[in-house]
Amino acid sequence: MMRYRAIVVAFVVQLAAGAAATAQAPTSAPATLFEGALLIAGDGRAPVANAAFLVEQGTIRRVGRRGEIQLPAGGVRVDLSGRVVMPALVNTHGHPGFQKGLTFSRDTYTRENVLDDLYRAAYFGVGVVMAQGIDPGEIVYEIRRDQALGVVGGARLLTAGRGIGAPNAGPGAAPFQGVAYEVTTPEQGRAAVRELAAKKVDLVKIWVDDRGGRAPRLAPPVYRAIIDESHRHGLKVSAHVFYHDDAVDLVDAGIDGFAHLVRDREMDDALVVAIVRRGVYVMPNLSGTERATYAGLPPWFDEPGLAALVRDTIPVPIVERMRASFTSREPAAASAARERYAVLQRSLRKLNAAGARIILGSDTGLEDHLFGHAEQRELEAMGGAGMTPAQVIVAATSRAAEYLGLGDTGAVVAGRRADFLVLAANPLDDIRNTRRIEAVYLSGRPMDRAAVRARLNGTH
Ligand SMILES: [Zn+2]
Repeated sequence: MMRYRAIVVAFVVQLAAGAAATAQAPTSAPATLFEGALLIAGDGRAPVANAAFLVEQGTIRRVGRRGEIQLPAGGVRVDLSGRVVMPALVNTHGHPGFQKGLTFSRDTYTRENVLDDLYRAAYFGVGVVMAQGIDPGEIVYEIRRDQALGVVGGARLLTAGRGIGAPNAGPGAAPFQGVAYEVTTPEQGRAAVRELAAKKVDLVKIWVDDRGGRAPRLAPPVYRAIIDESHRHGLKVSAHVFYHDDAVDLVDAGIDGFAHLVRDREMDDALVVAIVRRGVYVMPNLSGTERATYAGLPPWFDEPGLAALVRDTIPVPIVERMRASFTSREPAAASAARERYAVLQRSLRKLNAAGARIILGSDTGLEDHLFGHAEQRELEAMGGAGMTPAQVIVAATSRAAEYLGLGDTGAVVAGRRADFLVLAANPLDDIRNTRRIEAVYLSGRPMDRAAVRARLNGTH
């Protein structure tokens, strides 16, 4: 909601310039000077009160304090007094496109449904979504291209395309069957990577898991070949991992990121030390497991900031099914989940204390684990595992962008895209204040939040 005059003025000026139709293109809109906010740069430096920053052609040109930066002739001034600015969030682990209303299926995986998820993510403050390897067909590549051209908007989509696993040991749910490569030899693994590199994927995703004993997991010589071939092509590799022992060997093999914490036991000190020493990035992926810990409505379910975003973008039948999933769970199942969850929290605490590179990754897009909502929940869960709000913000912005090789977003500093949130309250005081969103700017343009509300309520 653009409730205050300055934002409305900036938006109208951009409409007049014919820019609003092209949601994320490089823009010819006039220079805009944003003044008066508390600025959280997102790279770990201390916040700056009464800040000013100048945006031209979608890029942040200068950052300072109010009064230090002159407004170029013809420019627009936006008063953000009393607001807080931070970078848009960067989610390194999502799966857009499968859920439409109450249906979760390959049949509902369409261009428009992927876009719905990207718009919903952006509405909740997410500027980038990395699709981690269950992306059938050409849709993700076409959307990535069209976003670069400014034809469509929403959170910027990156993709791992088709990830790589052992036969019957890749992505779990039925809608994903047949999407990932299934390989059993090092040469098959290398061939898959070469195909992915030719498609210009942003990352390579592998699964190293036996899916509860269902199938043999990807063998070390195979994943070592995949990692080597990926690095030859300048691509990082993210591993879905379950077992502690696999994680130990993956670190030794040069893995770049873990898409989950290990889930069979708490990370031991040697693994934590190795992760830190080798600079491996870790997505805690807490919020999916956390959901299972309740046999009754979680205290966060109706938290006002979250509930407002839910009301705007998530159809009522989904919200009701989410609510019922908590109230219908057996206490014994919730109790078992609490034990599993405590293990994850302890691992994250250790990693954080050791200075590991923790990044936002929430497996968004699994059933009823919705874009935007799950990222916002993940930030709170990271806080609940002992990360300070400042640490959570770095993990969810600049550090995540660094993992994805995006030097142009993830921080409100000169030279990056103007991808930022205007908040009504300070997330350094309470991380849940990242939900108090007044405006989302992507490439310097205020997102038309009313249009997104209309789109998401009208399509389900
Ligand atoms: Zn995933």
